[in-house]
Amino acid sequence: MILIFCEKKEGRLKKSAYELSCLAYQLSQELKEEVAASIISGEEGEDFSHLKNFGVSEIYLYRDEELANYSLTAYGKILSSLIDEKRPFLILFSHSSQGWDLAPYLAARYLSPCLTDIVSLEIKEGKILAKKPIFAGKVNQDLEITNKSPLFFSIRPKAITVTECARTEPKIITMPNSEPDLRIKVREILTGVRDLIDLTEAEVIVSGGRGMKGPENFALLEELAKVLKGAVGASRAAVDAGWRDHSAQVGQTGKTVSPTLYIACGISGAIQHLVGMINSKVIVAINKDPEANIFKVCDYGIVGDLFTIVPLLTEELKKVL
Ligand code: FAD
Repeated sequence: MILIFCEKKEGRLKKSAYELSCLAYQLSQELKEEVAASIISGEEGEDFSHLKNFGVSEIYLYRDEELANYSLTAYGKILSSLIDEKRPFLILFSHSSQGWDLAPYLAARYLSPCLTDIVSLEIKEGKILAKKPIFAGKVNQDLEITNKSPLFFSIRPKAITVTECARTEPKIITMPNSEPDLRIKVREILTGVRDLIDLTEAEVIVSGGRGMKGPENFALLEELAKVLKGAVGASRAAVDAGWRDHSAQVGQTGKTVSPTLYIACGISGAIQHLVGMINSKVIVAINKDPEANIFKVCDYGIVGDLFTIVPLLTEELKKVL
């Protein structure tokens, strides 16, 4: 069995759940294993049937009000009891803050290998091959995994293209509740941060750096992001200056993102920033310095003052869209 852990947000499965199902389905074709999904939920009445388009055969559903918010110990206990019972061969997580927490925690329990932030995973001639960016994304490391199961992987969000795989009628199995292990508990989720579009899932990101000159000017980026139905990111310089929340920071010490479109405004393109966004499909840079490093990695570069260009872009895009 290949087991995937599906994360939820506000009653819906996150996009990463479909990415993991697609990847698991591709692997299952080679491994001749079934794909099962595990979902931990605090609410009643949610619909997970959409997973039927993604080759999932079974859904193990855990429902408990106390599990509405992520808890390493509670989720870890549930998943380890499922692993003990079903003995999956591969266990896939998204490389989100939850997956990054859970995958190594569980791997340590089973003394199993855990590969994190993987951008590709495949079976070739019976070998399990993974690709992992290292040295701040400058190099991709090719890995062959020879250890025995269970094997734990966290997969970088958006590294896998979602396509409909195979229609199945997944059996939804509601699992019995045991006392949740809530030694670690989320006590509060700050609204405001929660309301933002998750950067790691956004299709479009408009990011601002020190060139924005002050927090009030991010309104320009918010307007452009609104037209493009995207999210607003920031460089560390902007975050350190207190202009944006740390949750918006893209880069080595922030989030790794791979949207379809990344628009960098007033960002110089330091390596620590690039490592977080270099896998974006299309990169647009707006910078008044023609020598800025960001122009070396962008697909479209606009040399000029962002305070002139961004409003123009927003107006034109409003007309087109
Ligand atoms: P700057 O480098 O100051 O660039 C500002 C740019 O704005 C310039 O290119 C300028 O030409 C342009 N500009 C100014 N005015 C305008 C205008 N009106 N119109 C158009 N362009 C204009 N950085 C990150 O971003 N993310 C990280 O996660 C991160 N992690 C780090 C970890 C470590 C260990 C270290 C040492 C550094 C890290 N950094 C990170 C910091 C990184 O090295 C850079 O300092 C930072 O990315 C610079 O941010 P910036 O591009 O916004 O600012």
